[in-house]
Amino acid sequence: MTNHTITLGDFELTAISDGIYVADGGAFFGVVPKVLWERKVKADALNRIGVSCNSVLVRTGKQTVLIETGIGNKLTEKQKKIWESQEKLLENLHAAGAAPEDIDIVINSHLHFDHCGWNTVYKNGVAVPTFPKAKYYAPEGEWKHGSLQLERDRVSYISDNYDPLIRSGQMQLLGGQAEIVPGISVMVYPGHTRNMWAVFIRSGGKTACYISDLIPTTWHLDVTWVMAYDLFPLECIESRKLYYLQAIPEQWLTIFTHDPHTPWAHLENVNGKISLKKE
Ligand SMILES: [Zn+2]
Repeated sequence: MTNHTITLGDFELTAISDGIYVADGGAFFGVVPKVLWERKVKADALNRIGVSCNSVLVRTGKQTVLIETGIGNKLTEKQKKIWESQEKLLENLHAAGAAPEDIDIVINSHLHFDHCGWNTVYKNGVAVPTFPKAKYYAPEGEWKHGSLQLERDRVSYISDNYDPLIRSGQMQLLGGQAEIVPGISVMVYPGHTRNMWAVFIRSGGKTACYISDLIPTTWHLDVTWVMAYDLFPLECIESRKLYYLQAIPEQWLTIFTHDPHTPWAHLENVNGKISLKKE
């Protein structure tokens, strides 16, 4: 996906992809029958679908903020083969006129490997910050959960993506709700994980929300179409309802973390069916 740029009040937002990777269709659609989800996206012979890792670059006029950092380039050869990761984030950032040194703030909605992979790169076998001048932020509960290395989801938590930054003091872990810089704040929407953040971008009376894996693509607008990855599917449903209750009447721009075609859209509710609003 090529970069998309819009203005939101005084801010400029650019959707930056780390590239398309392949994921199991069943993992993305959980209990939804394939005959239904295949109307939205076709699977390949191995039942895989192509999805994107979408980051957002926010230029506030004062700071340059990067929300999410994709899969990155630290996977093992075997993992790279499985995911077919393209490692495009830095290239696409460059196309948007931003060098790694230009990033002031990095925000990770949660610490799954496909959301914080470019936080660090290996230099002589040691994980060092990709964005040397940035302050990084992530949810504290995510880090605690990842550190437990539970059977269910330890593959998702790769400590080199964050532990070196925490040790050096470059990454700050925060609880619940916080304003990171004026106009950019975070709030927990539980379900995908217990402590995943949505990132709110507000300027000039307008709101955009990086809702992350709570609504990963435009195919997942139906409140019951939750992913098999979600740790708390019932809470996902409640969190989505809560989100729509505010996002639709207040006309928030919803940002989709894994959609390969549509990085963001406004939503509407027509007789209880949530859909994309025609712009
Ligand atoms: Zn996730």
